[in-house]
Amino acid sequence: MPTSDVRRTTAAEPLVSPAEFPPDRHFVDGAFRPASGGGFLDVVDPCSGKTIAQTAEGTAEDVDAAVQAAGAAAPGWRRRTPKQRSEILHRIADRIAARADLFARLEAVDTGKPMAVARDDVEQAVDTFRFMAGAVRAPVSAAAEQYAEGHLSLIQREPLGVVGVVTPWNYPLLMAAWKIAPILAAGNTLVLKPSELTPLTTLKFAELTDHLLPPGVFNVVTGTGPVAGARLAGHPDVAMIALTGSVGSGRAVARAAADSLKRVHLELGGKAPVVVFADADLPAAAVALRTAGYWNSGQECGAACRVLVHESVAGRFAELLVEQVGSFVVGEPGAGEEVELGPLVSQAHFERVTGFLERARAQGARAAIGGGALDGPGYFVAPTVLVDVPDGAECTREEIFGPVVTVETFRDEQEAVDRANAVSYGLAASVWTEDARRSHDVAARLDAGTVWVNDHLVLASEVPWGGFNGSGYGRDLSVYALDDFSRTKHVMHNVTR
Ligand code: NAD
Repeated sequence: MPTSDVRRTTAAEPLVSPAEFPPDRHFVDGAFRPASGGGFLDVVDPCSGKTIAQTAEGTAEDVDAAVQAAGAAAPGWRRRTPKQRSEILHRIADRIAARADLFARLEAVDTGKPMAVARDDVEQAVDTFRFMAGAVRAPVSAAAEQYAEGHLSLIQREPLGVVGVVTPWNYPLLMAAWKIAPILAAGNTLVLKPSELTPLTTLKFAELTDHLLPPGVFNVVTGTGPVAGARLAGHPDVAMIALTGSVGSGRAVARAAADSLKRVHLELGGKAPVVVFADADLPAAAVALRTAGYWNSGQECGAACRVLVHESVAGRFAELLVEQVGSFVVGEPGAGEEVELGPLVSQAHFERVTGFLERARAQGARAAIGGGALDGPGYFVAPTVLVDVPDGAECTREEIFGPVVTVETFRDEQEAVDRANAVSYGLAASVWTEDARRSHDVAARLDAGTVWVNDHLVLASEVPWGGFNGSGYGRDLSVYALDDFSRTKHVMHNVTR
């Protein structure tokens, strides 16, 4: 199918009125404050390429002021009991839920994502706060006990202090929530720098949670990665830096963190293999991949983007997948509830993804559907399935981060596992089979932080999310995130006297 056959819909009315935008300032020590340098960055609507708002261009001095505020607020916040912190997190969740529609519309305008995706992000953000509010009241660790004779050991979980957080543009509010909720629950204070492309919902969150949190407990500094993000990563008074972003930014943050030996928590990219065996329920797999491969226009670190299918069913599976992908409605978020795919987030990312598609074609891959940009304004790319992909082609190794799924074949189980693991990433993977032995064996041998069996991209607040290898280290969600944002202290009492 040529790319021009994809239905594209256009919005009639703006989704957000000017009065609903958040302030174009940093949020530091409980108040919105202008950037010290006086600079601004444009926030662009990905559907039109037009500037819709501006955000303060943070400087190193702005970050320093925020870290100081967070440091000053830290002793008071950590003294609160888990119950007290939990109650505040529940109230934050209540406020987000009460303004869910506004958050979803702002997120949709800023990122271009469909309203259904934006609403899901907001629901998951609310659930993250509720989960962490509950989990912090039920800690799990070794019991106080005389592990050495005559000595009573207490294992304590302490906050780290000030945590620096840097978030990406693909799920701005949700990725912020994944960090803010466990960091605050564990008794830390924080300074967050959202992506310069998509700062709106994080600033709205600051506005909304104002007066719920004591001043300085939660701070936002907007600005670019190499300036504001880098200062946060290198700041000597920041105890830990947590980044969700690309591998390159992860490396930069880890390097900047080295001098002060601060802890580093990295949720980086992915290139999730989807291993489909001949005995799999192929129609069910194709339906699941329609969502898992293209949710948020494939701008999803766990996206089911790399299908490895047994050669005996490869042709049939590609047909089923193309049939699914052919029914997408692509459009602007304001165009209506039927829109399922939006544009890519920025001109630069659009050029990156279309560049991948051009090189894939030059290397011999064929677009069974889609394959390039859509006509008209904005950063729209047609949902694409690439077949006849040569072994080792760039499009099967590198994270494209767009609505593009590649289909390769394998002959046997060993080859499937070897090829699935032959990328630098290790965030997520899935196995599709009706064979119980194989579902366990292959899941165990896949080198990924999350492996689904007969599904893909299903998440829950109770279970950890994070990568192996080039996808970084550290865990979001679940009690593992609470542990990551805490430090463990052993206090041993001599009880023989
Ligand atoms: P990005 O790395 O370009 O930007 C992420 C953040 O890092 C931004 O706030 C940016 O300003 C900041 N940054 C950039 N350079 C920096 C530096 N030198 N020091 C400090 N901060 C710096 O990533 P992106 O394009 O916004 O997001 C897409 C990437 O994020 C993809 O690779 C995707 O896989 C990854 N991601 C991973 C997860 C996960 O859970 N593993 C979730 C979402 C996104």
